[in-house]
Amino acid sequence: MEAALPPLPGSTPDEMFRNQKTEKVERHKIGALFSMTGAVPNSAWLEGCVTCDDEGFIKTGSDLSKEDLELAKWSVRRFPYLLETSLPGVFAVGDVRGGNVKRVASAVGEGSIAVSLVHQVLAE
Ligand SMILES: Cc1cc2nc3c(=O)[nH]c(=O)nc-3n(C[C@H](O)[C@H](O)[C@H](O)COP(=O)(O)OP(=O)(O)OC[C@H]3O[C@@H](n4cnc5c(N)ncnc54)[C@H](O)[C@@H]3O)c2cc1C
Repeated sequence: MEAALPPLPGSTPDEMFRNQKTEKVERHKIGALFSMTGAVPNSAWLEGCVTCDDEGFIKTGSDLSKEDLELAKWSVRRFPYLLETSLPGVFAVGDVRGGNVKRVASAVGEGSIAVSLVHQVLAE
């Protein structure tokens, strides 16, 4: 399915839905509906600071292309570490990071990895 089909106000799950992309109203006979919420990163304030992907998730490590690094004026001789953003020494972890699997355990795990990478940068 290309887009979410939220039920129209007052309808039940097996009734009318509106395709948010096409605006087409469709009728579906379904028994359950899974609603995915919280998938939009609040990262607009980072514009011009670190490189984000088209959906606003922060790019880190090998997700940063050569072009990304040139545009961001990457200023150190090495490539970014895992979890490091386009700003040397600044790391991103958790849901706001592109490629993160959007789970509590991964956010916590990435945070602990980032701490050791911060030590590595400070030791350079
Ligand atoms: C409905 C739902 C159900 C989920 N169920 C599960 C589950 O069952 N199991 C599981 O493992 N994961 C689940 N997740 C995912 C899990 O919640 C996230 O992966 C996890 O919380 C990510 O942690 P985080 O610290 O990266 O982000 P968050 O927990 O989102 O924390 C980010 C914090 O930053 C704050 N913030 C945002 N912008 C700013 C700003 N500009 N200034 C200051 N603070 C700011 C936010 O208010 C928030 O407190 C679920 C998520 C949702 C939305």
